Amino acid sequence: MHLNLIIDGEERHASGRHVTTLFNPATEEPFADVAAAGLADVHDAARGAQRAFEQEWRDLAPGRRAGVLFGIARLIREHLEELAQLETLNIGKPIADARDEVGLGARVFEYYAGALSTFCGQTIPVARRGFDFTLRQPMGVVVAVVPWNFPFPIACWKVAPALAAGNCVVLKPASLSPLTALRLGVLALEAGLPGGVLQVLSGAGGEIGDALVQHPLVRKISFTGSTEVGAHIMRLAAPGITRVSLELGGKSPNIVFADSEVDTAAASSPMSVFANAGQDCCARSRVFVERSVFDRFVEKFLETTRRLVVGDPAQAETQIGPLVSRAQREQVGRYLEGAKHRTIVGAERPPGAGWFIRPAVVLGCEPDDQIWREEVFGPVVCIRPFDDEGQMLAEVNDSPYGLSGSIWTNDLKRALRVARRVESGVLSVNSHSSVHVEAPFGGFKRSGLGRDLGMHALEGYTETKNVFIAEDD
Ligand code: NAP
Ligand code: MG
Repeated sequence: MHLNLIIDGEERHASGRHVTTLFNPATEEPFADVAAAGLADVHDAARGAQRAFEQEWRDLAPGRRAGVLFGIARLIREHLEELAQLETLNIGKPIADARDEVGLGARVFEYYAGALSTFCGQTIPVARRGFDFTLRQPMGVVVAVVPWNFPFPIACWKVAPALAAGNCVVLKPASLSPLTALRLGVLALEAGLPGGVLQVLSGAGGEIGDALVQHPLVRKISFTGSTEVGAHIMRLAAPGITRVSLELGGKSPNIVFADSEVDTAAASSPMSVFANAGQDCCARSRVFVERSVFDRFVEKFLETTRRLVVGDPAQAETQIGPLVSRAQREQVGRYLEGAKHRTIVGAERPPGAGWFIRPAVVLGCEPDDQIWREEVFGPVVCIRPFDDEGQMLAEVNDSPYGLSGSIWTNDLKRALRVARRVESGVLSVNSHSSVHVEAPFGGFKRSGLGRDLGMHALEGYTETKNVFIAEDD
């Protein structure tokens, strides 16, 4: 398989003819070469996107824009199985999850196709006589940089609202996971999106990232990835006051009170951290359990974990596939090595090919432990008991991150009190959901800046303009 860049409505080789070879994480075998964009491609993509913005997309009637977005959603659904298979092959995601995520991508396009006609400015009764109103206007060229852990849905939840608001997008998928992004670019053209409105540049962030972010035509960078690269992008964006939104790392808490349905919490919690082999910014990797139910919770958690199906991601029953790369598995191994003086249950590496590792449960760790504090980005959870709600909350918030989290309690007052106190952009009571297409998603502190999804994302892809029309006094 050989895949090219998508610039100005055409599939193109990279300017330097460079390619990235992709490996199947379940077999470790190479299976595709993908064009790796160079600096000339960045300039072409940005200039082409600006031209498409001015000539094709900015002034298109909103109803026609919506029609194209609905068309993209329809084509995503028609190609759901193909896209899901590509994702599984590319990053080892279990096929059942991949199907759900492609469906989510389609829903995001449907939501913003509908939302764009309800997204509006205000009329404001200013003190002077006249008529004052606001316009929400598109920014121009938006760069969307996305990671490899949820390649398709995250690409969709940046591209769809940006296009709905009237912007043009240069999409840069992660080097490890370009396949579904490139397919999205082709499907969008088939759905009638004019060439240049969505450019897809596969290529190494370390080589083209700085040029993309600093390009003078780029008005906004929407980034999802590591906190380190997010901070780098924010620095590069500063001189041009280029808008940024950042979805970054996490170390999310899962708080279990004794008054909750403890067995339900314990049975559902393993997949809140081990799903996607733990490569999830929302992974509930720090579990706080009230001491009186700690043993019961841990026993049930371990029992459920032992039954999780780890293996070939192409099989429908598989719950946990391989890690995305050898390097990612080595990173997880280093964290576990650093915690070997604690009790670690699981963490075996199955024999044979593939970058697999079985879920690891770490008990007896202390709040200063590296494995408790840092994002492992693998199937590793730490579970600690707590005695006092206030002290537990102080420990929960003693983290540079604040992305997601769960609270298990049947006491309504406690649920509200604790939800208010946890420093986090997304919380869920008596469930582990983090992402709703219709609701804002993003982090506090070093987990990010700005919000994806919901109407909040449309705000983030527009500028507010205030217009005052004077009337005679
Ligand atoms: P990453 O290394 O930061 O990469 C993310 C993206 O940034 C990739 O497309 C990468 O390209 C690109 N990139 C790298 N260096 C760049 C530069 N100098 N300028 C511009 N772009 C650059 O993160 P990752 O390892 O792919 O993903 C894991 C991280 O993402 C975790 O920390 C996770 O928590 C976070 N994440 C957050 C969310 C959220 O919504 N908050 C969701 C998913 C993941 P290359 O692949 O070519 O290097
Ligand atoms: Mg990286």
